[in-house]
Amino acid sequence: MMDLADKGLWRTCALIDGEWREDAALPSRPLHNPSTGAVLAHIAQGGAEQADAAIAAAHRAFAPWAARPAKQRSIILRRWFDLIVDHGEDLARLIVMEEGKPITEARGEVAYAASFVEWFAEEAKRIRGDVMEAPEAGRRIVTLKEPVGVCAAITPWNFPAAMITRKAAPALAAGCTMVVKPAEQTPLTALALGELAMRAGVPAGVFNIILGDARELGGVLTGDPRVRKITFTGSTEVGRILIAQSAPTIKKLSMELGGNAPFLVFDDADVDQAVAGLIATKYRNTGQACISANRVYVQEGVYDAFAAALARKVGALRVGDGFEDGAQQGPLIDDDALAKVEAHIADAAARGAQVVQGGARHPRGGLFFQPTVLTGVTPDMLICREETFGPVAPLIRFAAEEEAIAMANDTPFGLAAYVFAQDAARIWRVAAALESGMVGINTGAISNEVAPFGGVKQSGLGREGSVYGIEDYLEIKYLAWDGA
Ligand code: ADP
Repeated sequence: MMDLADKGLWRTCALIDGEWREDAALPSRPLHNPSTGAVLAHIAQGGAEQADAAIAAAHRAFAPWAARPAKQRSIILRRWFDLIVDHGEDLARLIVMEEGKPITEARGEVAYAASFVEWFAEEAKRIRGDVMEAPEAGRRIVTLKEPVGVCAAITPWNFPAAMITRKAAPALAAGCTMVVKPAEQTPLTALALGELAMRAGVPAGVFNIILGDARELGGVLTGDPRVRKITFTGSTEVGRILIAQSAPTIKKLSMELGGNAPFLVFDDADVDQAVAGLIATKYRNTGQACISANRVYVQEGVYDAFAAALARKVGALRVGDGFEDGAQQGPLIDDDALAKVEAHIADAAARGAQVVQGGARHPRGGLFFQPTVLTGVTPDMLICREETFGPVAPLIRFAAEEEAIAMANDTPFGLAAYVFAQDAARIWRVAAALESGMVGINTGAISNEVAPFGGVKQSGLGREGSVYGIEDYLEIKYLAWDGA
């Protein structure tokens, strides 16, 4: 219950049908702080019955929620937004405790998470159909937008608040109900959001949170015909499993999957701006974001200057516990994450890359790693083929624009890409040629509630946020009206 201003936000069990399922008979699982290793809480582990109860509650709640005027849903969502903002500091503290990011970043995440609730509270009122000219006389073609139904969300640990609101807000705005299965590493933030949703007046059953074994709960959520949509953010590997499991009941799918973002710096780029952009996208959340730059292609004319300036800035990043003053780089989430970062660096070094900054575990131990820069990286190295999800920037030298585009596109992923250049014709050409859902141009910060977030290729299906995001939670019903 550590240090929360509002103790009511400390929840450790499932929220089903508006009730906290405190059940001493359930097994529990210790939750660890990744920075200190301390046990934060014991989280009640439900199973298939819990998933089934949550689906049943969401199913019962669906028709009355969908039937409410959009304006009423909007008012409730707006209240949820206000409560998230009012309790922002507590939410940020929960994020630091269980995820490890610096408190300044956690506050940023809460604001970002809240922005989706505010945005979709507004968009709820703008759901609308069309009336079209029919090819025959005396007929009307009318379209209505209707909510998809019960939606199940499976969310990751790296943005424990925002990855939930980015799904729940458009779902509830559209009139859908939801069952959320948060990541096992970050249940506390999810449950606090659930508590605030209840206080905001979200009716029982409209927003449920279940906890337990991911595979077991995922199997129930994907297999149940009452669930009409699965919305997932996580790895491409798990996304593929969920898509396959959803096939028998033909569910709608939104998938925000892995990336392998290329970051292109051309000779005409402003080098300082490019360095700042790379720090923003690569080292935020210690590199644990799906839109983090993963491969940094730098044209030969600015390569050395860029590498030197980057190494200087990265060397100055403050590594520390998220609650420490001035900390900029928290721990990695777990041992597997640490092992992957080490394996990528070892593979690159063995194939001829140079470590110009960092390169090893941080002296403070635990899950901390030194922010790292590698030069002389080549496309055959593991670090160019897989998402590192850690604080390592691999620099690859290139000569011609076409060569950079070909290397950038040489991946099954297509989430985000970044281009740094001044020449407008080049920017347009390169942005058009990149196979990705999002392109940052002279910026490393691309995500906000107004912009459509999503990927192409094996990075996913659908878009979140923006005016488009609510469409993923709506069906079109067509009325063929004769004699109208
Ligand atoms: P990450 O590598 O970021 O942890 P994952 O794709 O493994 O990404 O996890 C994202 C979410 O998917 C988490 O909530 C996790 O519990 C859940 N998850 C993992 N495996 C499965 C599965 N087989 N079925 C359903 N959910 C799963």
